Amino acid sequence: MNPSTEQPGEEKSEEKWGFDLYPERRGEKYKPSLTKIALLGEGREQSQKIKCEKNVWYCAKSSPLVKLMLAALKSSGCEVDLTRHVSCEVCDVSVSGGYDSELNQVVVCQNVARTEGLTQGVLTHELIHMFDYCRNKLDFKNIDHLACTEVRAANLAHCSFLSAVAQGDASPFHIAKAHQSCP
Ligand SMILES: [Zn+2]
Repeated sequence: MNPSTEQPGEEKSEEKWGFDLYPERRGEKYKPSLTKIALLGEGREQSQKIKCEKNVWYCAKSSPLVKLMLAALKSSGCEVDLTRHVSCEVCDVSVSGGYDSELNQVVVCQNVARTEGLTQGVLTHELIHMFDYCRNKLDFKNIDHLACTEVRAANLAHCSFLSAVAQGDASPFHIAKAHQSCP
């Protein structure tokens, strides 16, 4: 980062937006506490990453929700390369995933989202953020935009989107249409 372009107080606002919850995001390695090393052993982190990446690939191949979001992104010109756009990382235990709009990457928290089901939930939710960003170039530090995309991600991933898929009428077209009604 060029220090001359850095805004004063930027550190603070990043903290406020939760970027500190993803310690591996900015090149820092997660540092387990001594108790964690004693309890889990150092090899645990690597095997968690492998398991997480396996879950991501499985969801991308088998989950209708994840496949639908990947298709929607592709048809909007934002094709997802799983190795480039999805990253398994150790996070703070208070979060299960995230979307980093600066790097255009979905983060799956390998130490929290540890089952296929949880991975599917995280991927679907965060891919909706990626889709919003792709379509709108949303400013995630703008609270109105953030609230809007969070509401959409929650609604689509947990309620209307699921039932629409169950009824078989969800498509990238419907997603795009729903998006327009969001201010
Ligand atoms: Zn979200």
